[in-house]
Amino acid sequence: MRLIFLGAPGSGKGTQSKLLIEKHEIPQLSTGDMLRKAVQDKTEVGILAKSFMDKGELVPDSVMAGVIKDRLQEDDCRNGFILDGFPRTTVQADTLGNLFEENNLKLDAVVYLEIDQAKLVKRLSGRRICSKCGTEYHLEFKIPQNSGRCDQDGEELLHRSDDHEDQIVKRLETYNEQTLPLVEYYSKKDLLKTIAAEGKMNEITQRIEDSLNL
Ligand code: AMP
Repeated sequence: MRLIFLGAPGSGKGTQSKLLIEKHEIPQLSTGDMLRKAVQDKTEVGILAKSFMDKGELVPDSVMAGVIKDRLQEDDCRNGFILDGFPRTTVQADTLGNLFEENNLKLDAVVYLEIDQAKLVKRLSGRRICSKCGTEYHLEFKIPQNSGRCDQDGEELLHRSDDHEDQIVKRLETYNEQTLPLVEYYSKKDLLKTIAAEGKMNEITQRIEDSLNL
């Protein structure tokens, strides 16, 4: 199974794809996570990416092409994967299409998580993430048992530097300008599954599974 999860920042791509990969034993390829790791490790890509990420802008397509090409060649991708946060531009979608073609791979579907953007600023600014295992919490909707600590491993919860209001507004602008055109791009290819991404988490998961006949 090879899927793309598409949606605005905060639409639940990460959370929903994590639930699906656990059931289907395929990796979740989050370009955001890969870039944050590269920033932390101060690699060449990380140093370059940081300046764009801090401003809520997209990392250049040419850099992302290299990142995704390398990741798709790793062994764990052999039986499928969920792309979370890639592609984000039509140029990236073309790059991905070419990579699939070169490797005789088939894209099964693009899951588009549709959500009212007015709700996203609140969702994102309250988000907290475990510094160790990446589990997500929310100050209002998913409160940890011990304030500021992860329920799984007790590690500190972090507020992502781009989950502050100014950056969120900028990220949504970037999304609307550069990523939203992908809805039409994949709809024309008859690959789009549009999911209402509001309501309870398990209800959204069920809608995704139904749309994919899982
Ligand atoms: P995310 O965790 O998916 O919200 O990504 C965090 C940030 O990483 C984004 O705001 C971008 O700056 C950068 N980023 C992640 N994926 C991509 C991508 N496919 N293309 C360009 N920039 C990306």
